Amino acid sequence: MSDPKILVVEDEENIREAVVYSLSQEGFDVYSANDGEDGLNKARTIMPDLVLLDVMLPKLDGFEVCRMIRKDLDLPVFMLSAKGEEIDRVVGLELGADDYITKPFSMRELVVRIRNMLKRSSNLSSSTLSDDELIIIGNLSIDTKSHRVKIDNQEINLKPREFELLYLLASNQGKALSRHQILEKLWGHRYIGDIRTVDVHVRWIREKIEDDPSSPSRLVTIRGIGYRFDG
Ligand code: CA
Repeated sequence: MSDPKILVVEDEENIREAVVYSLSQEGFDVYSANDGEDGLNKARTIMPDLVLLDVMLPKLDGFEVCRMIRKDLDLPVFMLSAKGEEIDRVVGLELGADDYITKPFSMRELVVRIRNMLKRSSNLSSSTLSDDELIIIGNLSIDTKSHRVKIDNQEINLKPREFELLYLLASNQGKALSRHQILEKLWGHRYIGDIRTVDVHVRWIREKIEDDPSSPSRLVTIRGIGYRFDG
């Protein structure tokens, strides 16, 4: 297996160089960008295994870059935030960031958390999905072999995380799953994020599979618990 690719998007030269140096020493294949626009372009062309993303960036800020990465590319995003910046930590996670660290940080801690995150994302496909299963519920079909979801034979384009979440709920059709159960299944035990990450992904899926996403009939909310796939 080749070395994991990491894209570091950070405008402060001393931090960028220190991070790039440390991660290269750790055996990662490291790329860097010094503004949000360049970061997003490089994320698209390199498709790294993880994006390390500063919040305050020229051209496009880290929040915007994170939003676009999650929308188009679904790559794991690790946010860096400066001490004293007015950042609602949850905001980063609601945008779909997988983890964050506050500056100043220890390089050791950063490396440990990056390794954990890479481990989680590589565990996903093997542990959550069986690789040859076809689920058909009404006019919806989920094919784990080809990773395709269709409604009335029309293909629905889901990001990998959305696919896994939909599969998890659909393979437990009629059963309510709590946000914590979902978070643990899809993001792993060590994930110390916010359960609202689940809500955000549910919202994205609903926009793709529901006739009326604001009043869902397939993927329903169970108040006080979580979600259930009805069909
Ligand atoms: Ca910055």
